[in-house]
Amino acid sequence: MDDSTAKVPHRSWEIAQKTWEMANNIDTVDEIYKYNADQQSGIQAAKPWEKNPHFFKEIKISALALLKMIMHARSGGNLEVMGMLLGKVDANIMYVMDSFALPVEGTETRVNAQSQAYEYMAAYTESAKQVCRKENVIGWYHSHPGYGCWLSGIDVDTQMMNQQFQEPFVAIVIDPVRTISAGKVNLGAFRTYPKGYKPSNEGPSEYQTIPLNKIEDFGVHCKQYYSLEVSYFKSSLDNKLLDSLWNKYWLNTLSSSSLLTKNLNKQRNNYTEEVI
Ligand SMILES: [Zn+2]
Repeated sequence: MDDSTAKVPHRSWEIAQKTWEMANNIDTVDEIYKYNADQQSGIQAAKPWEKNPHFFKEIKISALALLKMIMHARSGGNLEVMGMLLGKVDANIMYVMDSFALPVEGTETRVNAQSQAYEYMAAYTESAKQVCRKENVIGWYHSHPGYGCWLSGIDVDTQMMNQQFQEPFVAIVIDPVRTISAGKVNLGAFRTYPKGYKPSNEGPSEYQTIPLNKIEDFGVHCKQYYSLEVSYFKSSLDNKLLDSLWNKYWLNTLSSSSLLTKNLNKQRNNYTEEVI
């Protein structure tokens, strides 16, 4: 065996994983994984977010949490699915270390689903505290299959309630339909403003295509929240877990796509060229 080719990924799922990590700019950082309980309770006591409605500017999401969310969102098909986010905050940055699915579906289309969702959320937060998980619940996620990442009127209400009682809390919305399997994930992270607050900068920060039947809901509520800047990271510690999860994702969603296989073959050739 020639040593110079040892680092070249041969199997298509490995290439797809590399492609996915590159498309989402996933950095490897290990220090984020250190959890300082004293520092976290200090931040909880100081509550700097109460003085500034725009306090949190950035959110960093672990690749593991991201992959779990996207797999969950895809499994829901055309139904909205939801789950919880575990993590921490440091200065004005929120960190999502892990995510968990909740057994609630169709939150935006089913009567009473949102209050059921909120009950689950509250119960989950409480039980997570009781078992002393190192990370706190710092938010929730749900999917918008095919209609983009923004907060609906119902989402705004839920998030406002959470920011009143569960701070610090973030809302992540993920669109599994607009997410390219091995490419960039279609995801937004949002915080609502307090009731009556008028943001100084007008208009939604990012251009979005919103279906006609949703545009009114979007327009009425889009000034009640803002987007956080999203980036992703992974640690060398969770590489193994990430690999096995990716393998599952690959088998379920990617390996059947012929378009992707074509792109991967192209990429494989590029890898080969680099080595030569
Ligand atoms: Zn929603």
